[in-house]
Amino acid sequence: MLGELAKPVMYLAGVGPKKSELYEKLGVHTVYDLLYHFPRYYIDMNEPQAIRDAPLNEQIVLRGRVVRKLPEGHVRRGLTVYKAIFTDDTADLTIVIYNAGFMFKALEVGHEYFLVGKLTGNMIRREINSPQIYPADAELVQPVYRLTEGITQNQLRLNMRTALESLGGFIYEPLPPDVVREQGLCSLSYALQNIHYPTDMHTLELAKNRLVFDELLTLALGMLMMKSRSREKAGCPMGAESIDEYYSALPFELTEGQKSAINDCICDMQKDFPMNRLVQGDVGSGKTAVAAGAAYFAYKNGFQTALMAPTEILAGQHYETMKGFLEPLGVKVVLLTGSLTPKKKEKAKADIAAGEYHVIVGTHALVQASTEFKRLGLVITDEQHRFGVEQRALLAGKGDNPHKLVMSATPIPRTLALMIYGDLDISVLKELPKGRQPVETYAVTGKLRERAFGYVKQYIEEGRQAYIVCPMIEESDSDLRDVKSYAKEISEGIFSGYRVGLLHGRLSADSKEKVMKKFKAHELDILVSTTVVEVGVDVPNAAVMVIENADRFGLSQLHQLRGRVGRGEHKSTCILITDNPTEEVVQRLKILSKSHNGFEISQEDLKLRGPGDFFGSRQHGLPKMKIADMSQDMEVLVKAQETAKEILRKDPNLDTGENAGLRELVEGLFEQDIAND
Ligand code: ADP
Ligand code: MG
Repeated sequence: MLGELAKPVMYLAGVGPKKSELYEKLGVHTVYDLLYHFPRYYIDMNEPQAIRDAPLNEQIVLRGRVVRKLPEGHVRRGLTVYKAIFTDDTADLTIVIYNAGFMFKALEVGHEYFLVGKLTGNMIRREINSPQIYPADAELVQPVYRLTEGITQNQLRLNMRTALESLGGFIYEPLPPDVVREQGLCSLSYALQNIHYPTDMHTLELAKNRLVFDELLTLALGMLMMKSRSREKAGCPMGAESIDEYYSALPFELTEGQKSAINDCICDMQKDFPMNRLVQGDVGSGKTAVAAGAAYFAYKNGFQTALMAPTEILAGQHYETMKGFLEPLGVKVVLLTGSLTPKKKEKAKADIAAGEYHVIVGTHALVQASTEFKRLGLVITDEQHRFGVEQRALLAGKGDNPHKLVMSATPIPRTLALMIYGDLDISVLKELPKGRQPVETYAVTGKLRERAFGYVKQYIEEGRQAYIVCPMIEESDSDLRDVKSYAKEISEGIFSGYRVGLLHGRLSADSKEKVMKKFKAHELDILVSTTVVEVGVDVPNAAVMVIENADRFGLSQLHQLRGRVGRGEHKSTCILITDNPTEEVVQRLKILSKSHNGFEISQEDLKLRGPGDFFGSRQHGLPKMKIADMSQDMEVLVKAQETAKEILRKDPNLDTGENAGLRELVEGLFEQDIAND
């Protein structure tokens, strides 16, 4: 179907084996992938500014000619400066180029060029340092790509040109002709040409619209196909067993919301098609107790329950909680994670297959093909949006189409919920358990750091524990040093004499678990951590949290983080520190001092930061979109969903020749998702 485009980029003129290795890092393997490496943004040279009026210190576009080239200067060894005088007849400026002699040599006196860069100096003597230089006959809109070390912007543009040329004349059209017509879309080859080299912003819009539609249609088809697969099969109907023992064994009285959520589950599980329910509740609302209730009901009916968590830490914690709630009632609970020794894992798996265990808690190791259940009746996923789509599908495929319960603290708009979860019913936990005090929250600047730490000490003296969260995280190696050196610094400095632990994403699963265990057992006073503590960690004795560089987080994320304290009867405090106290930052952080309601906070976040940030890149666990923005492109999303339904109504499995291209797209999207996880 893809023909020439399926060829590895290596065979593209001008690429070769060495560069193709670099391209791998950008996720580009084939010519097709290269064409789908879309620009991050564009430089539009349609309206150059006059030098005379151009502002200083801002990115601008100028058009003019080289008047004179000055002799090169040697500032010091290894640093050569080239200068040229440039004019557009409104004013002159000096182009300054460091070391790049080839760039300078290419400039010809009397020829016209576009310059892109920042002006410095003053209104009399203007300079432009290391500008991008384009000949006057270059394309007026220039793409700017995400790069990797070893590939320059110009090289990438050159390779892209070659790829686009190889596309010339070759018409690949995955959409059925009817859809293209009805939706008023441009052809795919037009779209690919113009997403890279649009003549103006209108053609860019057309191209983008087409590519966004393709992407969302593919996603909608994939989600719908998966859903219909799970609807077909019979469920595991259960009978009306009582779970009164569960209620009376609990160390606390359930909230109304918890009780009715459990009842919803019990009703669902007695029907003869599988339950598909979302329990949505703010951090600390007690979702785990709901899960345990549902699991106990499945147990009473002779079924196993699998509980899947996105991280080892969480899985370990759920295991402890489940054991606490259910073991006294005779339910056998086991933990299955990737870090078990092979021998232990084998044993656990054999026992699970034999039906020795009733509740199986784990990370995605659970979904591995080799885990067999004896009689799986209920699958619970915590923070499901963190899992890849395919992982969930795999688990749902186990057993005899089991009931499904998902728990989430992330308030998401309904349209998006439908896309992420398919058709589902929702139970909401509105209130927090009794006796919870809202976490007192303060936003302060770095100047008050010492005082904040003094506060932390007070808490520790009273027997409490503390989190200190640093956002300088797993992103890159150099950043990683930061959280480590931060921990070292405070444990040798202000907190010497206290027991300080460190938790971050790069630790092995084993070490993470050890640190968490120590913190839970109160063998540590302070846990310095990256955002890995964000989801679900439950240490009721931890009552104070300091968040460094709080301005770098979204409000919802801060709220999630803050939810790690205030989980017990102790009064709790959260101190947000920022060294970047702009008016906007202060306003934003203040919202957290005022509100303790996750939904409200996410609405505010949405207002202030726009939807882009709210959805983040991998917040929802859908396959990664290259160009569509699920929140901005709502309208296209709705159209794509309708179109997908229409297509599947006629051809449920995309078997016909007309839909072969679509089928390939759907398979491609979900494959890519697994590879990324
Ligand atoms: P989340 O909804 O954030 O996952 P958890 O299930 O982890 O919340 O519960 C948070 C804490 O509250 C746990 O320590 C749990 O045992 C406790 N808890 C849950 N329900 C209640 C309740 N009804 N009353 C008192 N404490 C509760
Ligand atoms: Mg939880």
